[in-house]
Amino acid sequence: MHPMLKPALRRAWRDLRSVQFGATAAHAVVVGPLDTTTGSLLGLLDGTRGVELLRAEAGALGLRDGLLEELLGRLAGAGLLADASAGRPGKAAAAAPPDDALDPLRADLASLSVAHPEPDGALRRVAARRAARVQVRGAGRVGATVAALLSASGVGRVDVLDSGSVRPWEVAPGGLPAEAVGERRAAAAHRLVARSAPGGRPPRTPRRVTGELGREPGLSLVVVTPRDGLAAYLPDPIPAEGWITTGTPHLYAGVLEATGVVGPLVLPGGTACARCAQEERTDREPAWPRMLAQWRSGPPAEVPACDLGLAATVAGLAAAHALAFLDGELPSSTGARWEVSLPLLEWRVERMRPHPACPCGAGRRGEGEHASGLGAPQDTMAG
Ligand SMILES: [Zn+2]
Repeated sequence: MHPMLKPALRRAWRDLRSVQFGATAAHAVVVGPLDTTTGSLLGLLDGTRGVELLRAEAGALGLRDGLLEELLGRLAGAGLLADASAGRPGKAAAAAPPDDALDPLRADLASLSVAHPEPDGALRRVAARRAARVQVRGAGRVGATVAALLSASGVGRVDVLDSGSVRPWEVAPGGLPAEAVGERRAAAAHRLVARSAPGGRPPRTPRRVTGELGREPGLSLVVVTPRDGLAAYLPDPIPAEGWITTGTPHLYAGVLEATGVVGPLVLPGGTACARCAQEERTDREPAWPRMLAQWRSGPPAEVPACDLGLAATVAGLAAAHALAFLDGELPSSTGARWEVSLPLLEWRVERMRPHPACPCGAGRRGEGEHASGLGAPQDTMAG
């Protein structure tokens, strides 16, 4: 191991004896009190030295035996240490030559290093993303962009399902390009996914998905991004039945009538599903099934009210929630949905309650667990 203070976090001395790593409320950590000599040891943690060499340097500085290990333990416990020899090119980490293939993901790795405490957490998660398989259902402005973002973020397999041909108003920066107008949506999205992969890659032969959709094994996540946002805003329980039976996590995202929605992320049997939401609303509002029947019976809107800014916002947030889930967290869309409307763009969150009568079982288990954030700056004592 070549210990390195995570370079993504800015460092600032709060006073002579304590140093703050990171500037933002979510991830900042204060380390102290530190004496001057221990402080100078921090300066050596830049990933160019192995632990042996650091121990020798600590001895030369006159620091007592064991202090280095103690400091490293506390820094690691505070989530501040990275291992420069783990796939990262430290100057002296000759055993680990730079992996050029990771270059397009360097900023993503830096972000992962901030969000996750372990020294090798970023690389492990990128490796896990490569093994993940995500299905994106719908290739409009939102869906195509979600697929491109997931692919670009290192998700190894992103399949996009849609029918018909690309219409001129479905083109979006980061989504389907103008050249794709008139082309089959599935083929255009497939090429977009391939082109977006880190370093680019030739398109795979599109997979033929037959039979009942959603019943395929091995899906890490389904992202439901219908071109007509109604099915994201008021998810239909019937297409979700397969995911509930197979225990496939699914996330809804879309834009309907100038309102964007991200969530819920449904963990079958654990958090509220589409049917839970529908039943719960029906309990409160007896006219609801009649309204739903009318909304769902008509043909989908030919031209959705889905402007670029909102579509990009929803796609970006949906991709971030999907990635957080694939990276092992339960993002705030788990059992909840975020909603935002033009023109004021104030975000609202709505908790989705599992319904006791829903066959998904979430209502009988109670609400799923929610991940807790790292919260306010923590103090850690070192030196
Ligand atoms: Zn349910």
